[in-house]
Amino acid sequence: MAEAPAGVEGQGFFATSFDKVIGLARANSLWPLPFATSCCGIEFMATMASHYDISRFGSERPSFSPRQADLLMVMGTIAKKMGPILKQVYQQMAEPRWVLSVGACACSGGIFDTYSVLQGIDRVIPVDVYVPGCPPRPEQIIEGLMKIQEIAKNESLRRRNSPEYQALLESYNIK
Ligand code: SF4
Repeated sequence: MAEAPAGVEGQGFFATSFDKVIGLARANSLWPLPFATSCCGIEFMATMASHYDISRFGSERPSFSPRQADLLMVMGTIAKKMGPILKQVYQQMAEPRWVLSVGACACSGGIFDTYSVLQGIDRVIPVDVYVPGCPPRPEQIIEGLMKIQEIAKNESLRRRNSPEYQALLESYNIK
């Protein structure tokens, strides 16, 4: 059960700000889009399954359509040829959207320091949280998800309209 946000309480009433209520709802209903290309994807499967049970965080509904997802989870080795496809998937997601980079390959190319592998997905899209490991254990993926929840919960509703955020997207040539 999610905790109520900070607010003012009295007999028969509870008041809080709109930002906090929206943040609470967003943080506890993240819909992931699993962009899994290799072994880290198997760890995601374990994270989804009954033992770790990602549905405890309101994220049991994976979406394979970017338009119905707000959390892009990139898990696996991303070849340079896939970079534009990953970017297109990101661009098809509606705001607000977050990106979780899972595992050494997605974060930095991992052990594949070669001409064909993208040396980190943040070369093509902005990343919110990085999960290290080769592969990371499900506990680490869950911790990454919880960090995204923290960001979603505390983010200003207007951050996405801020000049800083627009400048970040422009630096990736994303409109
Ligand atoms: S980080 Fe390791 S486990 Fe994950 S995709 Fe790369 S090689 Fe596989």
